[in-house]
Amino acid sequence: MTRIDLHCHSTASDGTLTPAELVRAGAAAGLDVMAITDHDTTGGWAEATEARPEGLTLVRGAELSCRWHGGRRWPIALHLLAYLFDPDEPRFAADLARLRDDREQRAERIVDLLRADGVPISWPEVHEYAAGGSVGRPHIAQALIRAGLVATTTEAFQSGWLGGRYFVPKSDLDVFEGVRAVRAAGGVPVFAHPRATKRGPVVPDRLVVELAEAGLFGLEADHEDHSPAERAAMRALADRLGLVVTGSSDFHGTHKTVQLGAFQTTTEAYEKIVAAATGVPVLG
Ligand code: AMP
Ligand code: FE
Ligand code: FE
Ligand code: ZN
Repeated sequence: MTRIDLHCHSTASDGTLTPAELVRAGAAAGLDVMAITDHDTTGGWAEATEARPEGLTLVRGAELSCRWHGGRRWPIALHLLAYLFDPDEPRFAADLARLRDDREQRAERIVDLLRADGVPISWPEVHEYAAGGSVGRPHIAQALIRAGLVATTTEAFQSGWLGGRYFVPKSDLDVFEGVRAVRAAGGVPVFAHPRATKRGPVVPDRLVVELAEAGLFGLEADHEDHSPAERAAMRALADRLGLVVTGSSDFHGTHKTVQLGAFQTTTEAYEKIVAAATGVPVLG
């Protein structure tokens, strides 16, 4: 059986393995195909490409921070996986750069709020944890752990900390604009963990219908943040709309407990994604 995991993070964003370590870990975990999908960046692509072990096929991608403005009260944040797009397409490259820049400003604001309450962490410390990659709340969590205020990343995401009291939204990319931009760069957009309710509010099915009309290609149904019923619901919705279904680990190294290959994508769905992409080829 072919083992395919299409959603993995490295130190180019909030994972804990370097891109080289990530592809080696993928091969060691018995994967045949793996995607590198760091938040809002292609910064890990070159190193992952260079270190790709023989026999492992590498899909270059990213996970795009988006939001939907049709929610009743406030925008709903969502993530789009983007596969095999051209990283040099100017408009999409500019979108990614803006998203990374916004992540930095937002992280600095969160650090300021924490410092105003006497929490002994600093922006240079958090910036150092991000090590040149896309900054995310897990890097602030790392500072809170170092300061002895929480024990784990999960605890840092609770309501007293980054998931509530010190929550600051990112500005993100309008999701329709995101789908359009990924397609315009020759990539294939797949809605990541569409029912991950523990991260916050999720979007209604009618948005998925509209996104499918706008060029969305697939739904990530099999993900650890979905219950069996939610996985089945996403599968049924995908079938109804003619979207492909993917499954993936959303591996983040030690920032999460999930292991590489914990959820997988079928060869059939993978091949449809590859056939639909025109940005860059798969490697291997
Ligand atoms: P950000 O992208 O800065 O908004 O931070 C969100 C990221 O933090 C997600 O991509 C996950 O990797 C991680 N994350 C979100 N919620 C949790 C949680 N409850 N526990 C651990 N990590 C989380
Ligand atoms: Fe993440
Ligand atoms: Fe995500
Ligand atoms: Zn992810």
